[in-house]
Amino acid sequence: MNVNRIFCIGRNYAEHIKELGNTPDEAFVLFMKPPSCVVPPGKTLTLPRGRGGVHHEAELVVALTGGGADIPEAQALSHISHITLGLDLTLRDLQSELKKKGWPWELAKAFDQAAPLGDWAPYRQQDLQALEFTFHVNGVLRQHARTSDMLFSVARQIHILSRTWALQDGDIIYTGTPSGVGPLMPGDRLLLESEGIGRFEWNCA
Ligand code: ZN
Repeated sequence: MNVNRIFCIGRNYAEHIKELGNTPDEAFVLFMKPPSCVVPPGKTLTLPRGRGGVHHEAELVVALTGGGADIPEAQALSHISHITLGLDLTLRDLQSELKKKGWPWELAKAFDQAAPLGDWAPYRQQDLQALEFTFHVNGVLRQHARTSDMLFSVARQIHILSRTWALQDGDIIYTGTPSGVGPLMPGDRLLLESEGIGRFEWNCA
C-alpha cells in the first residue's frame, strides 16, 4: 500500500498526557510526518545521534480509502481499509525546547526513519476501541495500550481531520500513544504486537 499522508494525533490517552506534564484539552494535537519517514519491520533503525533522547510512542495506525471532506462520525469507520501498529519516534529533548519556544515540532517528529510501521492487516470491522497492544524493548514491557482509553475515538479523529483535509486514499493516522514512552538506544531490539494485527520487530543501531 502506498502511504499518502501521515497524520499523527497527540495527547489522546490521559495517562500519557500526565506523564509528560501536559493537561488534557478539548482538542487533540495534530502533526504530520512525510511518507519518507516510514520504516517497514525488519529494517534497521538508525537512531539520530547527538540530538538528545529518542523516545518510542507505540500506536494503533489506520489506513483510509479516502472519504473526502466533512465525514460524519457515524460513517467514519467505513473509510478504513487496513490497520496496523506503528512507532511515532520523537526527539523528546528537542521537542521540549521547541514547545518552550512555541515553535512547530517537525524537527522532533518528522526526521528520517521517524515512522516505523508494521505490515497492514485488513480491517474486519472489529471494534477499534476494544483493542490491546504491547511494546517491548529487549524483552521488557514498556507500553501496554487499551484503545478503550483513547480520549478521541478513531471515528472521531477521522471526522475531525476531515473538517480540515479532504481525506484521500492512502492517508494514514497514527492514533496516539498510551503512557510508558521512553528512550531507545543503539542495540535495542523492539517488538510491537497485537493479537489479530501482527507482531513487528526492529533493531536499533
Ligand atoms: Zn505519538
